[in-house]
Amino acid sequence: MCDHPSHALQSRRQFLGAGLSLLALSALIPLRAFADAAPAQNAVSPDAALRRLLDGNARYASNKLGAKDFSVGRAARAKAQYPIAAILSCADSRVAPELVFDQGPGDLFVVRVAGNYLSSDSLASLEYAVGVLKVPLIMVLGHTECGAIKATISEIKQPAPLPGHIWDIVDAVRPGIDKVVQAGGDNMLGNAIGANVDYNASRVASAQPVISEAVKQGNVRVVGAVYELATGKVLMRQTA
Ligand SMILES: [Zn+2]
Repeated sequence: MCDHPSHALQSRRQFLGAGLSLLALSALIPLRAFADAAPAQNAVSPDAALRRLLDGNARYASNKLGAKDFSVGRAARAKAQYPIAAILSCADSRVAPELVFDQGPGDLFVVRVAGNYLSSDSLASLEYAVGVLKVPLIMVLGHTECGAIKATISEIKQPAPLPGHIWDIVDAVRPGIDKVVQAGGDNMLGNAIGANVDYNASRVASAQPVISEAVKQGNVRVVGAVYELATGKVLMRQTA
């Protein structure tokens, strides 16, 4: 693995396909041992973790949030974290996972990028969540009216120059929604948002070597969901 910046840039997508390098994986081992030494407050089943999220979302959607004292547990949280789920969410300002699922500090390990797509960077963070923090659940969370999906649909239908690095979003989102856009029909945006979630949830679940192995062992479940801006509800996708 070459450290030259230009080579590193060129190899980003290859790296995504290959998963963590042996060097990076070996760096996880002492951290994993450290995590093992602490009580595992997040040692719940994937289904139990998902239930906690969905129950929290029901509270949020009905505007009955649980009372929170953020000072409670602050000292303990300074020493360690035990999140019950990792969320790959869009960066959209209207989607705030801790609020959407009515969870507190330390409960969710959130990775956010416009378009909630998997990249080498987001994969590395998710692998840390699984391999070191031992989250039992990963959720890829899309949302209605997603600007990243709208921009990609527009680009597929009528290519036009985009400023700066916004191309990276379109390039990353396009593979998951291309068929839906080409098929046309009603509700193209909604179908594309769902397809993007499904595509990336599938990629997360099969990402080697850390997450796919954890899925195989039954230690982690990967799910997809779409957050409805207008209702506050999270709707599960039928994925892994
Ligand atoms: Zn979005």
